[in-house]
Amino acid sequence: MQFTAAQQSLRDTFRQFMERELVPATPAFEAGQRSIYPLIKQMVDQLGLGFEADKLAQAKPARSPDAARPHDPETAALLRFAQVQLAIEICRVNPGFALSYFASVGLFGGNVRSRGTPEQIARWVPPILRGEKTGSWCLTEPGAGSDALGSMRATARLDGDSYLLHGEKTFITNAPEADYFLVYAKDDAGSVQAFFVERGTPGLETSKPFAKMGMRSSPTGAVYLNDVRIPREHLLGGGISDRGHVRTSLAAERIGLAVMSYAIAERCFEIAVDYAKTRVQGGQPIASYQLIQQRLARMYVGLSNARRIVYDTGELSVVDACAAKLYVAEVGSFVAIEAIHILGGNGYMEEYVVERLARDAKLVEIGGGTTEIQILTIAKHILA
Ligand SMILES: Cc1cc2nc3c(=O)[nH]c(=O)nc-3n(C[C@H](O)[C@H](O)[C@H](O)COP(=O)(O)OP(=O)(O)OC[C@H]3O[C@@H](n4cnc5c(N)ncnc54)[C@H](O)[C@@H]3O)c2cc1C
Repeated sequence: MQFTAAQQSLRDTFRQFMERELVPATPAFEAGQRSIYPLIKQMVDQLGLGFEADKLAQAKPARSPDAARPHDPETAALLRFAQVQLAIEICRVNPGFALSYFASVGLFGGNVRSRGTPEQIARWVPPILRGEKTGSWCLTEPGAGSDALGSMRATARLDGDSYLLHGEKTFITNAPEADYFLVYAKDDAGSVQAFFVERGTPGLETSKPFAKMGMRSSPTGAVYLNDVRIPREHLLGGGISDRGHVRTSLAAERIGLAVMSYAIAERCFEIAVDYAKTRVQGGQPIASYQLIQQRLARMYVGLSNARRIVYDTGELSVVDACAAKLYVAEVGSFVAIEAIHILGGNGYMEEYVVERLARDAKLVEIGGGTTEIQILTIAKHILA
């Protein structure tokens, strides 16, 4: 990928921050010995990531939520590149850190921003963009995962001027420490709506972080809603949220997850190539053996195709977002596992990072809709 001077400069700035701050902090994050959120705040401050917050905080009812975004195409393209490259640079080092940051600004912040009223956007989004508050996006339930909407049991009952939320959400990124919760529940008419709940509201509780295979830097947990009373104004968009809204946000999440897998593949591929060139067995570098070359070449094919997908600047339809996520998620897991193999015993050791990245990569085949759900969505579109 050939970067312009402006793109290169952004990439270097992001990479330097990650190498200076995220690399040394990652072992403590992974072991659950240190909270990631202060470093998220530091990243936002030092990289200027909250630049839209002030404008959004002043949003007047007549203004569009996108008013804070640049209209000049060159700036808009650079901004999109910056978002993708920031995600790549974080994920090359620590995908779990990225999962938590983007669940807050993307899943929580992005949904409020695209569907909230101007007042809701002005109140709830700026603290998220500035890294002062952490958001979570609460769709999945113990009995409602792949069929999140159809099997949803959480309810929102209108009681006078407030809603009473009842139910349980699980596998929620940031739940153990989040300040803000965007909770999906069925209203009295059986429609899925999104509701804003703040930590501290009576009846809302969260679990401790779950122990899990990968993404260990990112706290995942349950949210318990026991007749949580919230004002009517906490209904997102005044009630315009719907199934289409959930599907659109899943499409955005899927593109973000594809970027995550690409970054994992990119880093693992680089580690594998360096290792193959320097590791000597039988008197020669293992890279000189054709069986190793074949593995590297296959890894390259996936990486090269995935790169084109994640740097694509066009708007993706929901079905193409599914296709992107399906393909790149498999590339991420494949390349990471191949990297472990090329590193032999060292690949299996924590010190060489690829084993952690392989564990992290598996999440992308599950979260935001499993592989099967992407396939079913694509097939439905083809046959419609
Ligand atoms: C680390 C992590 C973070 C997460 N963060 C969030 C979050 O922030 N917010 C949130 O709302 N959710 C979150 N999730 C939940 C995630 O989106 C779900 O785990 C995922 O959608 C799958 O649901 P499930 O786990 O209930 O699996 P299930 O739906 O029970 O699926 C189990 C298996 O059955 C298959 N299957 C299901 N239905 C079909 C079918 N119709 N045809 C064929 N096969 C099928 C699946 O593909 C899968 O292989 C997170 C999950 C993890 C692991």
